[in-house]
Amino acid sequence: MGSETFDENLAAAHGYLARFAAEPLHHLIGGEQVLSVSGETFDNSSPIDGAHLGAVAAGDAADIDAAATAAEEAFVEWSQTPGTERKKILHAVADNITERAHEIAVTECVDTGQTMRFMSHAALRGAANFRFFADRAPDAANGQSLPTDTHINYTTRSPIGPVGVITPWNTPFMLSTWKIAPALAAGCTVVHKPAEWSPFTAHLLAEAAHDAGLAPGVLNVVHGMGETAGKALTEHRAIKAIAFVGESSTGSMIQAQGAPTLKRVHFELGGKNPVIVFADADLDRALDAVLFMIYSLNGERCTSSSRVLIEDSIYDDFTARLAEKVASIPVGHPLDPSSIIGPLIHPRHHEKVCSYRGIAESEGATVTEGTAFADAPEGGQWVSPLLFTNARNDMAIAQEEIFGPVLTAIPFSGEKDAVSIANDTDYGLAGYLWTGDVGRAHRVATALDAGMVWVNSQNVRHLPAPFGGTKASGIGRDGGDWSFDFYMETKNIAIALGDHHIPALYL
Ligand code: NAD
Repeated sequence: MGSETFDENLAAAHGYLARFAAEPLHHLIGGEQVLSVSGETFDNSSPIDGAHLGAVAAGDAADIDAAATAAEEAFVEWSQTPGTERKKILHAVADNITERAHEIAVTECVDTGQTMRFMSHAALRGAANFRFFADRAPDAANGQSLPTDTHINYTTRSPIGPVGVITPWNTPFMLSTWKIAPALAAGCTVVHKPAEWSPFTAHLLAEAAHDAGLAPGVLNVVHGMGETAGKALTEHRAIKAIAFVGESSTGSMIQAQGAPTLKRVHFELGGKNPVIVFADADLDRALDAVLFMIYSLNGERCTSSSRVLIEDSIYDDFTARLAEKVASIPVGHPLDPSSIIGPLIHPRHHEKVCSYRGIAESEGATVTEGTAFADAPEGGQWVSPLLFTNARNDMAIAQEEIFGPVLTAIPFSGEKDAVSIANDTDYGLAGYLWTGDVGRAHRVATALDAGMVWVNSQNVRHLPAPFGGTKASGIGRDGGDWSFDFYMETKNIAIALGDHHIPALYL
């Protein structure tokens, strides 16, 4: 995959997407494809030209109840399935994803507006996520040995129960595998509520899982709005935990909704991540990384470096070089392999992102706009990349998550100032820093209030490493054993070795 031409991708899209136009997309509950109990559907439109892509079953509390019940019933067997067997099935899921990677990538491009350049990798990363957690399934239950003089303490882990997974619309396929793969590897069953703006590839994932032999009810998918289906999932008594990726404000609502049933929650939320460029850095590499981390994936990426903090001595030169490069970023059809930026997912999101141009001007920043797509089909949510220079960190363009191909450039003076500006945000997901001074790299990395810091690097994900944020960017960590800690309960068992003293409470 990846060698297809634009025309080949277009032709393939007609074939792959015909099924979604032919009949409403069903939920998958207990192994059955079903419409909503209410019979309601909602429309899914193309970000490319606004065309109707298909109707989607609009689930509500009744459908969530059916899915949660199916997950509860399936949990009895799946949680007892040996780890080695779970491993086999999850590798088979990964095989199926790999086999259908082009279909998944093309469908994702048309459904979300993200370009093929990145979606082809995203589909395969989904398979890699399954393989990574599949390999760890046999040892997921293993705990620690904590002996004392009088007792052997040892811990074991067991799957927490049926869990809810609620995902957003940016790279939806890859993100959902990131949650669903460890949950299944741990022995949990899942009810997945995909984002209503990008419902299609969740169905492809469920099919890949079903074809791999996953038993009915182990992975269920219920489509629908956040306020109805999503809310019902977070409130359902059978669901023991919610893994959520989305906006910080939604995370806050979910915490409140889940409180009466004491839901365990894991939140991966928004970001306004800084990339700090010191004058002593390798500025050519820094420039490419800064551009990559905001203008790839349409800037719709939680870990995007949407604020670039540049040391004042190089600010003018570095921003001039940024502006020159931004002008040559190709905007184009998502299925054209040469496109970097495609249309934004939804008219509401498009309006939000575009509104920051006027906000930047009214705040006194300088706006540089990249090229537009000359052949943009009418009715789509097309954008050009934007760069805001001469910005201050107290401006809305520096504080609010724009979630588009929009970069705000802020000058700083010295290390202390850089850290203070970087941390002056509600968010704390990721930080990036570029310097040639090793001591400074350690000092600044330690001082940044963020869950993840990359030094002299763009975001390069290592699956055993923890992923997650501080402050309004999230609660908990994903990756490696951190994922199992979330999806499993830890039990301590203490066994007396002999005749240790037992206090007698009687005379
Ligand atoms: P969103 O919060 O609007 O929606 C995410 C999901 O939550 C959707 O499935 C939606 O239907 C559901 N939802 C909405 N209201 C709900 C409610 N009351 N109860 C239960 N579910 C509800 O987010 P979005 O706009 O789809 O995604 C963009 C956001 O996701 C950005 O803020 C981005 O930073 C964040 N994100 C974070 C990470 C990370 O790892 N930290 C990764 C990707 C995206």
